[in-house]
Amino acid sequence: MAGRVVSVSCPACGRKVPFEPASRWRPFCSERCKTLDLGAWAAERYRIAGESRDPQAHDVDPAAGGTGGGTGTPPTNGSHD
Ligand SMILES: [Zn+2]
Repeated sequence: MAGRVVSVSCPACGRKVPFEPASRWRPFCSERCKTLDLGAWAAERYRIAGESRDPQAHDVDPAAGGTGGGTGTPPTNGSHD
């Protein structure tokens, strides 16, 4: 009585892959699918890591900016007549 070969779906393309030592890239159907999936996973990680650094760049206090108040240049209003 031979054991049934369990097949899994390739996480990348959904193709049925026999889950056995012969399937070198299981649960992926091929090296290409495995690389694709790992690449997407790595890209996702890098994107999340980049976003976590973003809030620091937004830490700008609007009150710290000295804009407002028109006492910078006095009006030269000499009555020259
Ligand atoms: Zn695949």
